[in-house]
Amino acid sequence: MVWILDLDGVVWLLNDVLEGSKEAIEKIRSMGSDVRFVTNNSVLTVSSYLKKFSGFNIEAHEHELFTSSMAAASLVAPGERAYVIGGPGLLEEVSRVATLVTEEEADDRHAGVDVVVVGWDHRFNFSKLTKAMWAVESGARLIATNSDTTYPTPEGLIPGAGSVVASVEAASRTNATFAGKPNKAIADLVSASIDGEAVMVGDRYSTDGLFASTMGIPFFLVESEVSEEIPRDLPQPVMTCRSLYEIVEAYYSQK
Ligand SMILES: [Mg+2]
Repeated sequence: MVWILDLDGVVWLLNDVLEGSKEAIEKIRSMGSDVRFVTNNSVLTVSSYLKKFSGFNIEAHEHELFTSSMAAASLVAPGERAYVIGGPGLLEEVSRVATLVTEEEADDRHAGVDVVVVGWDHRFNFSKLTKAMWAVESGARLIATNSDTTYPTPEGLIPGAGSVVASVEAASRTNATFAGKPNKAIADLVSASIDGEAVMVGDRYSTDGLFASTMGIPFFLVESEVSEEIPRDLPQPVMTCRSLYEIVEAYYSQK
């Protein structure tokens, strides 16, 4: 059995670990089950994620981690020229396969960009928007990490990657191909690492719940401020709780 866990809103909230999540993950491991951490947050690099886990004293391994940056990079062909709007995590993953087009190079309307890759970027501005627009107008594909329009922090919601992507889509009059949850690119990466039964735990139905549907596995919902009303005609969560800890306890007490 594999527990696929969303990170923001399930394991932690920005820089605060959520109560009981460490104990829940320990319980999963002690029951002989596996974990995968699957996040649409494209900002952090793999080593920053592992540092964050160890800062919370939570056991986590590189092969267990899947980000929307990895998923976006999986849609870039080796050797392509990529203009990236995003944080260190996205730059790292795309640079593993592609040649990064610099800000200066992208100032040229004809910079020969093959693909524009967009994620969450707190330095997003008009100049980057213009460069992305020109590249797409000149024929570059538009790939995005995720469509989450907001991002939960302890102080409330802030704009998410989806809000950045929406402005690039509007300016370039092109729809992006999304790589993160609930889409196929990240489902393919996670599926390839899993053998047998799995469940998905997340706090956002439109990403985590639909990702569970894409994967064909049950969905457990952790209620948070990003949890939306779930359309009645779509698959409902098997269980709804206030924390990962409650879900894991309830699951194993039923066994
Ligand atoms: Mg979440």
